[in-house]
Amino acid sequence: MLLLLRFDAKTVREPIISLTAIKTGALINILKADVGARKGELIVEVPEDKAKEVLEVLKKMGVDIQEITKSIARNDNCVHCGACVSICPTEVFYLNGENKVELRAEKCIHCGACVKVCPTMALYFPI
Ligand code: SF4
Ligand code: SF4
Repeated sequence: MLLLLRFDAKTVREPIISLTAIKTGALINILKADVGARKGELIVEVPEDKAKEVLEVLKKMGVDIQEITKSIARNDNCVHCGACVSICPTEVFYLNGENKVELRAEKCIHCGACVKVCPTMALYFPI
């Protein structure tokens, strides 16, 4: 399960991910981190068999949690330049036999790198 975790000025100063991992025994994989002094956001991957326990512990500690269910998407602006192919760490994008860029969206880990480099703003995360 992929989760977007939002931390406020209080929770961002606490070792919440470590505590959650210790309490639940879950191997929590941090995929993206944007943490400052007053707030923070993490995208984490949690094993499905530990997801319920992890969610309960995080909620108790005051973390705002949103499950990520929709993956990267592309609109018609794509010009098949290939910039996303080379930057994606999980090989979501690939060239088909006609040199057109295709997606395997299920491999996306929401790092956001492709969205930043796409010259035509063709990539986005559906709400
Ligand atoms: S970077 Fe944007 S325009 Fe280029 S291939 Fe990827 S989606 Fe298409
Ligand atoms: S958000 Fe990251 S993992 Fe997902 S498709 Fe873009 S570059 Fe790949």
